[in-house]
Amino acid sequence: YYEVFVYSFCDSDGDGIGDLKGLTSKLDYLQDLGITGLWLMPIHPSQSYHKYDVENYYDIDPAFGSLETFDKLVEECHKRGIKLIIDLVLNHISSQNPLFSKAAAEVARGNLNGNARYFEIHENDYFSRDTQVLPLGSKYSCEANFSTVMPEWNLNSKQTREEFTKIAKFWLDRGVDGFRLDACKFYTNKTTNGTEFLTWFMKTCRGINPEVYVVGETWSDDSDIAELYKSGIDSEFAFKFATTTGSISQSLMTQKGMALVAKVKNYDKKMADANPKEINAMFLSNHDQVRLSNTFESKGLDWQKFAASVYMLFPGNSFTYYGEEIGMTSPATTGDENFRTPMVFDSDNMPEISVEKLGSTFDPPKNGGVEQQLKNKDSLLNFYRRIIKVKLQNPEISRGRITEVCDFDDDSVGAFFTEYDKN
Ligand code: CA
Repeated sequence: YYEVFVYSFCDSDGDGIGDLKGLTSKLDYLQDLGITGLWLMPIHPSQSYHKYDVENYYDIDPAFGSLETFDKLVEECHKRGIKLIIDLVLNHISSQNPLFSKAAAEVARGNLNGNARYFEIHENDYFSRDTQVLPLGSKYSCEANFSTVMPEWNLNSKQTREEFTKIAKFWLDRGVDGFRLDACKFYTNKTTNGTEFLTWFMKTCRGINPEVYVVGETWSDDSDIAELYKSGIDSEFAFKFATTTGSISQSLMTQKGMALVAKVKNYDKKMADANPKEINAMFLSNHDQVRLSNTFESKGLDWQKFAASVYMLFPGNSFTYYGEEIGMTSPATTGDENFRTPMVFDSDNMPEISVEKLGSTFDPPKNGGVEQQLKNKDSLLNFYRRIIKVKLQNPEISRGRITEVCDFDDDSVGAFFTEYDKN
């Protein structure tokens, strides 16, 4: 899978904002890279640049395109054997979403039995002190842990679940192959059991399309991830192995290969105990994290290639964040915008995507953009093309289970067998 922030990927019409048409024009590039799945960060109408506060779950943000350009993208993906999954934000909504505005207006009139039921709206004293809320008048508030412009859905209510069924059906019927679920850790609150909700959601999606693929973001410790795997969700991101401070990076830095393999084996076993069909989802960094090349670029290309091999060759699906394959770096180590800079297809002709909203200027990757690296057989990009091919040609790599950690009497060497029963 390849994670794309549409805003920063490819601008087709010169307005300074990446769009679906631009992304569609780069599908041949992704197919050649070996990508068989695409994850789009939120594409629904929203006032923020990141679009995690959704104003309309049934449309495409006009800056990105329209439902027609989306349908074309789906069609072109499927032509190339690429599955398309979209980000689905079910924990919170935009305060600008009409459904929420209606609820807020009703609550102002003292009516809690209408649209208010969709949301975590309660009397003020319902909330504990450390819960962030959006006040609605003097008596009521809505839970809003992320920000006051992102009030939270009530995942227990019948109305909400009817709405979510409609949303899932809308996109699955359009040909979407699945979803990446945002902020699953926060599904659980005072009255909602996140596992119960996710079990319901998975059952609902499979009722619409039995082949649906769902991957969840539970940025938390093993026990929280294992708990949500009980819902039957296909995959959850393996956060502890990612980022510059995660296990992959740290094991490479300290040359502890054997310990890393043991860690992956233990992690996988824990998750498979919760869901025997789980598919681990490994990555090096995502849109919320500083890019791994910030740490590894100075060490040299071999380090970047090695990090790529490590996460690609462990069991499960690998998720490559756009630009990772050319060694893009983050211009600063804090601020989400700095992790989402424009994709560099040609470093002699830098993208004219507006960094105004991204809030930062940035440098091209040290070894050039896609064009430059395609011409160099030893480039990081060509290494990614080779390692992905290895993974695709040998399904036991992604589908197998680690059955044995081999001891070479040298703890810098990590080696393992995987076993795969294709039946
Ligand atoms: Ca555009």
